[in-house]
Amino acid sequence: MDLLRSVSDSTDETEFYTPMPEGYRLGSTKYVAVFGTVISGLGKGIFSSSLAKLLKDKSFRVAPIKLEGYLNIDSGTLNPFRHGEVFVLDDGMETDMDLGTYERMLDQNLSGANFATSGQIYRAVLDKERAGSYLGRDVQMIPHVTGEVKYRLRELAVRNRADVVFVEVGGTVGDIENAFYIESLRELSYEEGEGSVLFVALTYILHPPALGEQKSKAAQLGIKRLMEYGIHPDIIACRATQQVSDKVRQKISIYTNVPIQRVFSMHDLPSIYLLPEAMREAGLDSEVVQLLSLGGKVNSAADTRAAADWSRFASKIGKYKSAVTIGITGKYVALRDSYASIIKALEHAGVANDTRVDIEWIDTTDIADANVAERLGEVDGIIVPGGFGTRGAEGKIACIRHARENGLPYLGICYGFQMAVVEYARNVCGLEGANTTEIVPDCPHPVIDILPEQKKIEGLGGNMRLGGQDIDITPGSLAAELFAGAQRVRERFRHRYEVDPKYIERIEEKGLVFSGRHPEHPIMQILELPREVHPYFIAGQFHPELTSRPLRPQPMFVGLVEAAIQRQAEKS
Ligand code: GLN
Repeated sequence: MDLLRSVSDSTDETEFYTPMPEGYRLGSTKYVAVFGTVISGLGKGIFSSSLAKLLKDKSFRVAPIKLEGYLNIDSGTLNPFRHGEVFVLDDGMETDMDLGTYERMLDQNLSGANFATSGQIYRAVLDKERAGSYLGRDVQMIPHVTGEVKYRLRELAVRNRADVVFVEVGGTVGDIENAFYIESLRELSYEEGEGSVLFVALTYILHPPALGEQKSKAAQLGIKRLMEYGIHPDIIACRATQQVSDKVRQKISIYTNVPIQRVFSMHDLPSIYLLPEAMREAGLDSEVVQLLSLGGKVNSAADTRAAADWSRFASKIGKYKSAVTIGITGKYVALRDSYASIIKALEHAGVANDTRVDIEWIDTTDIADANVAERLGEVDGIIVPGGFGTRGAEGKIACIRHARENGLPYLGICYGFQMAVVEYARNVCGLEGANTTEIVPDCPHPVIDILPEQKKIEGLGGNMRLGGQDIDITPGSLAAELFAGAQRVRERFRHRYEVDPKYIERIEEKGLVFSGRHPEHPIMQILELPREVHPYFIAGQFHPELTSRPLRPQPMFVGLVEAAIQRQAEKS
């Protein structure tokens, strides 16, 4: 009781400071916090989202949040080379690619409330300081910054009416950037009371080839580091290339006081989608239910159903009847993380077609009409994904032309949509020098242009058009066929340029169809060639990869893989 009073009472002269969102009851929400030790990039998001999925399966309301250490306010300005793709949420928030993992695993749309950066936290604290909210106190990392972090977590719980909040702390334990997050979670655990906050440490088991065996020392040291912060893990997940040996698991158990059944081997699997079942088999979900005293609220019938649905999907992975190769053109070909969602969307579409999808990365900087046939000789379909700027753009246009003229299945995404318009304008409509003003600002036919007035109508200001928007689908079109006759669908956008409405009629007269449009304004959102003319030629001004889910693959990807299978069959 004393604790309850002290944490909620911040106006008296006191060292306690814990702002509480309205409607929040201490101890009524459960939290699972996931930390990484030893190295970053271990797949904390994959682990956390898989565990969250297993709880969701049991009918718990789950809400994930990623706490990023960097000072940027969002991920919009991050170089995908360094940080992977920018994942855009329906509300327009530009986030880390891990949010995509959560949306896919949980089949759940997230919002800005599921993503915090140090920059956001500090900004909130500094805004409060300027507004005089700290009543003359010196503003400190503890309790004010940590108080803000706890507030964010609790606010998410209230807003989503979450039973369990999954907190993923970015980076690695020991990083200066993330230290205050770890401290906040330690405080949270004390304030919420026993059995409310569960800690997971992800660690890495080395397997030096020269020794030929797994070594646990680095993992032990990493976990010790976490314990120095006053956090004792309840579960340890050991990343490794191969199944972690019993000996190593026992060692870790002994050194950390974590029971062996909660030391989990998270070794490499052919697909991340096999992890939820592996965790279920190891009994991790039951451990969590027990540790958080959630047993009485488990919906077993729903759990069995969800497990069966997932198993039907997961059992197809790796057992494919055929294989196709899809070429992806892109500037960031050096870094697969830049295209994480496209890779996943192709995996979903492949499973839906019982087909393995191999990806061929195509650097377009040296592609021209003369060599394009040879460069695309091996692929059964092609994607021109989102992008910015001049580099490789003419090569992409050459690829699109080749696909259009040779019946090669084509899916254009965002920039790939705009480039398809440019290609058609130049080579079919005879609009010589047609281009996007992103590349040639004063080109003779700016078929793709910045149109701030259009964005103003949507209340988005003059900059990037971001987030979910509705799309009206033309009945009878290829798009209508793919979206199973839906008249309106919703997809996610992230672009600055768009088709100039002045050119729509001239382009459509020559056969290209704009089959997806904004419900009220002349914003072109899907283009296609009719099936009679081309087996599969479609593009979206949006990013269809962002809405693809394992059990609900995005239709434009499914269609691409289907067409690629067909093309391959015709070739042989
Ligand atoms: N560069 C283009 C634009 O800003 C396309 C953006 C993208 O592909 N995401 O409109």
